[in-house]
Order: sequence, then structure tokens, then C-alpha cells
Amino acid sequence: MNDFNSIPSHVWPRNAVRQDDGVVTIAGVPLPEIADTYGTPCYVIDEDDFRSRCRDMAEAFGGGENVHYASKALLTATVARWVDEEGLCMDVASLGELQIALAAGFPAERITAHGNNKSVAFLRAIISEKVGSVVLDNAGELELLDELSAASEHIQDVLIRVKPGIEAHTHEFIATAHEDQKFGFSLASGSAMEAARAAARAENLRLVGLHCHVGSQVFDAEGFSVAAERVLGLFRQLHDELPADELAQLSVLDLGGGYGIAYTEDEEPLNVRAVAADVIGRVAEVADQLGIPAPSVKVEPGRAIAGPAAVTLYEVGSVKDVHVDEDTTRRYVAVDGGMSDNIRPALYGAAYDGRLVSRFAEGEYTTTRIVGAHCESGDILIPEASYPNDLGRGDLFAIAATGAYCYVMSSRYNAFLRPPIVSVRGGQAKLMVRRETVEDILALENTGEH
Ligand code: PLP
Repeated sequence: MNDFNSIPSHVWPRNAVRQDDGVVTIAGVPLPEIADTYGTPCYVIDEDDFRSRCRDMAEAFGGGENVHYASKALLTATVARWVDEEGLCMDVASLGELQIALAAGFPAERITAHGNNKSVAFLRAIISEKVGSVVLDNAGELELLDELSAASEHIQDVLIRVKPGIEAHTHEFIATAHEDQKFGFSLASGSAMEAARAAARAENLRLVGLHCHVGSQVFDAEGFSVAAERVLGLFRQLHDELPADELAQLSVLDLGGGYGIAYTEDEEPLNVRAVAADVIGRVAEVADQLGIPAPSVKVEPGRAIAGPAAVTLYEVGSVKDVHVDEDTTRRYVAVDGGMSDNIRPALYGAAYDGRLVSRFAEGEYTTTRIVGAHCESGDILIPEASYPNDLGRGDLFAIAATGAYCYVMSSRYNAFLRPPIVSVRGGQAKLMVRRETVEDILALENTGEH
């Protein structure tokens, strides 16, 4: 046995185990059985892992009412039902996400709506379905929502999305609280204060809180506290200006998501319980110093709930040794999926942990690149790792921590069909979402003359 045969428990689903015969099981279901029944590539999600992470978050932040699962990470009707059953609230960031949540019977009053360019149809649905709250991103949207609410004789709870000006230590595309990006109202320029005033004045909006989101895959826990402190400064300003009846409704400090998870063996996930205790304590302390009541802290984790719960199961196909230079040969091992089911490595250089899951690996180690099957040389899933050289055609290879931002970002590049999602629990596998078919793709086409 060697390292490649281990299954790092802080990266893989909580119920993943390598058996004595070398086969990896999740929740008691052998991955080769899943490949036989559902084919590859296939996302396999550990239901108990997902649910337990919902409960961990709820415990850390003082109850499910304070935790809004960010459905952009992974949303299917079944996932919405799990989140509901675990007592969490939910964030949606589009009309489509709202429709999926509602179709699953998720209570509208426990939904918060996000987005930097919410469509009129989305805003109308928010009002007609009585969605709990809306996080306002810009002044035009604030006016529009007020008008649409007035037309429906509706009063809508809103939060203002504040850009607190923090540089989160994460990739540029997933850092969202610094100034030069598209989300929210700037704290520094005064536009966040202006928006809060406008929301408080608006006849058909009720300002219930302030929101900020530092970024995603954040490991520097200090960022959350610093953001909270800055936004509390705005609470203070509002306490100086707003009448008592408006202030009575202003009670929420939503700190967004972003809790970092381990994608590779040498990373450690952020300790959410410790961060929660720290942030909640800091909010109470700073509010006290500012002489204002401490708002209730809410959060919106997506990745930290869905990410570690799933793996993507592939079958290995071609293996090629490429002569890189005089001293280097790199082995290219191709799997039957790639950038269509996991765009993250190509999009922002995301790193992953992949393992042979159908047997023990035995060979010497060799420098290997795991690539997909797409017509793109950037279709690389794991750029470089030391893998046993007996990894070859017909082996099953799985990449861990693919529950978040993989299925929902999947594409049909090269007319690859979106893989199924199979949930596993207590030794049983269940199809959550079936594999796409060519008929699904052709069904979208207008087959008439024009
Ligand atoms: N909330 C907001 C406003 C977001 O933009 C995001 C993701 O970008 C999240 C929550 C979820 O972040 P994560 O999945 O990193 O927890």
C-alpha cells in the first residue's frame, strides 16, 4: 500500500472508505457498482455528508434560521428538499434557481434573492411568491423593486449589499468585496449609506439589514471580522439618522459565504465553528462599543456544505507519455469527462485530489497529468501529480470535493452530455438527476423550416 491508496478524510466525503480489496465505497456503496449502473462520468453525492454539514453550520451560527444555503453551489429539487429538511434557509441568485427551489416545495419566506442584474421577471416572481428578502445590489434595482412592489401592494423586506473594500486572499474571480468589481454598493464612496437611506425612505421596501460577501474559498478568517466591523460602522450611521420605527426593523448583518474547504490533501478546511464564535463575539463587542444593539449574524455558505459531499467518477481511457524536454517525460492520463463537468481548473486554476477507486494502485510513481476528453489543450483536471504508473485504461478514477460549482457550471462542450448525479446513503444509491441524452439536446432545436 502507498499514499495514493489512502482516502484523505478532510477532502473526501465523510463516508468514503477504501475497502480491503482496494475498492472505494461511499456510504457503503462501491463506486464500481455506481459506474456499472449509471455509467461514467457521474457525480456521486454522500447525502449524510451534505446533511451533516448543514447541521454543523446551523450549530455554529446559532440555528438554521441564520444559515442560508447558497444554492448557486449546487441546486437540484432533491438538494432543496434536503436543505429544507435540515431547517436551513436558502439563497437564490436567479429566477431559475428560485423556480427550482419553489418546485421542490421550499418555503418562499425562507428564501433570500441575490443578483447584480435581477431581471424584471425575477423581481416580479419574488413579489408574487412572497420571497422572504431581497439583497439589493444597485440603485436602479432599488427603485424598480419599490415600483413593482407598489403596483402589487406589497411591502418587500430588503438588505443592502455593501462592498466593504476588503481584498480577500482568494482568486480574483472569486473575490467580491474589493472596490473594483461589479457587486454591491461601495462603503467608501458613501453609496452604501445613500442606498440604505433610499431603501428606508421607499414606501414599499422595508430595510431589514445590511449584507456583505468577502469572497469565496477564503481561509483568512480575519476577513470576515474586518468586513463585519466595517459594515457595523454603517449600522452606527443609520442609527444616527433613521427614525426609531425604521431602526426597529433593521436587525440583520448578513456576512455572505466563502468558507474555504480542502481540495487537496495538504489543505485544511476553515474551522467554521471557530470562525463563527469569533465573528459573533466580535460583532457583539463592536456593536457594544458603537452603542448600538448587536444585529443578528446570518451567513450564506455554499461550497462548505456541498463541496466536500461529492466526487466525480470517471473511467480512464488513453494513456500517453509525452517527451517534455531532455530530462522530463510527462504521462497524460485521459478520463471520459473533463472541462464540461468541471470547469474550475481551467477557469481559475483550481487544484484537486484524484484517486484510483476501483482497486489498489501498485506501480512505481510517475509524473502524471490528468486530462479530459475535450478538444481543448486547457482541458486539464489535475495538472501535475505523482501517480502510480499502472493507472490505465478501464480503471475508475475519482476526483473529490466536486459537489460545489461543478454540476451547476457544467457545459455541453463537444456535445458531451451532462453527467447524472447519484446520491448514496446507508448502502443504497439513488438517481438524483439522470444523464442528459442527445434527444434532450435535439429537443431544444427548431426542426421546422425556419
Ligand atoms: N453569498 C454570495 C453573495 C455569493 O456571491 C456567494 C458565492 O460567490 C456565496 C454566498 C457562496 O459562497 P461559498 O460557496 O464560497 O460559500
